[in-house]
Amino acid sequence: MYRTLRRLSCFLLVLAALILPAGCGIELQYADETPGTSHTGGPPSASPSIEPSEEPSPSPSPDPSPDPSVKLVAYDGIVEHLFFHPVIAYPELAFDGDLKEKGLDSYMVTVGEYNKILESLYEKGYILVNMNDVWEEYQDEDGVLKMRRNTLMIPEGKKPLILSFDDTNYYNYMLSNGFTYKLVLKDGEIWSYGLDPQGNPVYSQDLDAITILDKFVERHPDFSLNGVKGCLCLTGYEGILGYRTMTDIKGMSAEAEMIRQMEIAAVKPIIAKLKETGWYFGSHSWGHISLSTSKLDTVKADTQRWLDEVGALIGPTKLYFYPFGARPDGDDVRQTGEIFKYLHSKGFRVFASVGIESFSKIKTDISAVICDRMHADGDTLRGQRERYLKFYDAKLVFDDARPDYGTSW
Ligand SMILES: [Zn+2]
Repeated sequence: MYRTLRRLSCFLLVLAALILPAGCGIELQYADETPGTSHTGGPPSASPSIEPSEEPSPSPSPDPSPDPSVKLVAYDGIVEHLFFHPVIAYPELAFDGDLKEKGLDSYMVTVGEYNKILESLYEKGYILVNMNDVWEEYQDEDGVLKMRRNTLMIPEGKKPLILSFDDTNYYNYMLSNGFTYKLVLKDGEIWSYGLDPQGNPVYSQDLDAITILDKFVERHPDFSLNGVKGCLCLTGYEGILGYRTMTDIKGMSAEAEMIRQMEIAAVKPIIAKLKETGWYFGSHSWGHISLSTSKLDTVKADTQRWLDEVGALIGPTKLYFYPFGARPDGDDVRQTGEIFKYLHSKGFRVFASVGIESFSKIKTDISAVICDRMHADGDTLRGQRERYLKFYDAKLVFDDARPDYGTSW
């Protein structure tokens, strides 16, 4: 039965690869799937955005210092890790029967589902921790750099949880499919901007995974350790956070470069505000490339471009999130190949794929950690209710606005 399901899901993945455009940013292959379903071709080149940008208005940030009355206890157990893609703000646009519908159903959750998932995580005693705090690099007695697991100090009775959000770039293809368009600053806070199904501009804090979590932690400060939120895993081929900050391989006209510089200036205060309010960043490659099928030279060019265009804006990060969950060099669990070594040489230390549990392993031959994340999405809502019951009950979360593709429960 499992084999049949597995074969079926591989078939669906191949189907998704056929109908989704290259570089769409959707994960087509997870680590717990048979490798080999890859997407090919470079990302589409996009024209710079001319959407309105809000001027930043400075304001004091919430104080994330810990409550001294809370008893902290040492925690060395599993740190659960759940990841999301951008959430669907308008299901009627995502689930409209077009060619994107199946992929969006598989890899995304709706705003309604996301709200219920956050409530459930909170009720079950999870507390958000920073992925950067879970492991640290140190020098052993021989002077060799290694990674080690930190003992986390968390409030008694709580369970630590990392949240990460892939492809928070606000890709062009998402804009007509029910997603928000970009993050903006309004009244000193992060808001989303987008168009509703009637085409009216909407500024909101209730339609985007980032602003929804901000508000949730504001209402429930004990859902977060020291105000931390989640990791935003960014590609670069259509810019970041809704701002078209990328270059064009074919060259940039003076006008295009001028618009790009305006986008860069506009996104900087957004990045600063996100960092100030508990968000942090990781690389998801520049072009959403599959590391299992890319050659070393491709990875080098892609990584350098990411560092130049994204890293230069968000600052240094040790976190790398494999696009499609695709592991480099055949197998990064049992061996350390040339792509892994190259990424390590660029400062990356924690490498995350996607899997059926919050697996992690400290490598012994190189100073690095590899880990898997579980995926909160339509596929697991439909087919893996049991496995995700520790987080939420798919039966209670599932959005009726989804198309009728069936569930296993
Ligand atoms: Zn992705």
